[in-house]
Amino acid sequence: MWRAVFVSLSRNRTLKHRVMRWGFVWRAAARFVAGETLEDGIRALRELEAQGIRGILDHLGENVESPADAERATEDYLLALDRLAALGLRPHLAVKLTHLGLDIGEALCERNLRRVVERAAEAGTVVEIDMESSAYTERTLALYRRLAPVYPNTRVAIQAYLYRSAQDVERLIEEGIARIRLCKGAYQEPPHIAYPRKRDVDASYIRLMERLLSAEARARGAFIAIATHDERIIRHALRRIEEWTVPREAFEFQMLYGIRRDLQVMLARQGFVIRVYVPYGTEWYPYFMRRLGERPANLWFVARHLIRP
Ligand SMILES: Cc1cc2nc3c(=O)[nH]c(=O)nc-3n(C[C@H](O)[C@H](O)[C@H](O)COP(=O)(O)OP(=O)(O)OC[C@H]3O[C@@H](n4cnc5c(N)ncnc54)[C@H](O)[C@@H]3O)c2cc1C
Repeated sequence: MWRAVFVSLSRNRTLKHRVMRWGFVWRAAARFVAGETLEDGIRALRELEAQGIRGILDHLGENVESPADAERATEDYLLALDRLAALGLRPHLAVKLTHLGLDIGEALCERNLRRVVERAAEAGTVVEIDMESSAYTERTLALYRRLAPVYPNTRVAIQAYLYRSAQDVERLIEEGIARIRLCKGAYQEPPHIAYPRKRDVDASYIRLMERLLSAEARARGAFIAIATHDERIIRHALRRIEEWTVPREAFEFQMLYGIRRDLQVMLARQGFVIRVYVPYGTEWYPYFMRRLGERPANLWFVARHLIRP
């Protein structure tokens, strides 16, 4: 229920414009968002790098409504890639297809995505396609399928809470393009589409993770980014990696900026690849609402900023 409230708030545009003017909300959001500019994102990437942690840079934005906005988002990604290359930085990029125009048209979105992926390939880096709500799953995977065989520098996120994900993972393994960021899922989905109970989501996560770590999947080129802050699942992954002698090229860990920094540092110190998702930009409101929806205790954190500015 908690998540339902915040995911619905994340879509409320009137509230968004009002809330974004309240300084204390931004101060609370700043725990999860590196800042409003690319330079803020770069600063955060450098801080992480100093601790042996790699980055995924996300220019915040979603559900754009005009081709001009989708074009602007694409250009922003291209500019970011050029700026990063000039600085000798090669973080992965995270993109949301609705930021590149998926709501306007698939062809337009595909054109924009190809431009970003091609520039990223030239820069020697990877584009990770975020997974949005289930209204977009089919189209996101269809687009990934068209690009992935041609561009090995692409990955896609899969959400363990969706019933369909078991089949999607199998198909991607079979097709030899299972380069997957496995997350639990951050949107509000009805019970005929996604597991409503956390323990079932966690069990699904472990099943999919084990499948992607298996020797059979690896023989078909599978790669898994284990994107979770769930310590129990991370420990489970570490046990399987050791038992099955999974090579370091077949997996990495991923977490979000500002969440479980202790675990991020621990994994880096143990020599694992850990990559942190660093969002920046002025469109931080929906991202922040989803982070609030994941953890009720975060509301106290916002309240603290109201009381003690
Ligand atoms: C790198 C990365 C990329 C992601 N990409 C996507 C995507 O493309 N699509 C998508 O739907 N979702 C995405 N997510 C979000 C994901 O689906 C979950 O909503 C989110 O990670 C919380 O789930 P969890 O796996 O950490 O497990 P949980 O069981 O929810 O949390 C485990 C522990 O992590 C900590 N924690 C988790 N969330 C928070 C929070 N918001 N604030 C403070 N502490 C917290 C708490 O200590 C909690 O006990 C991504 C997550 C990561 C890490």
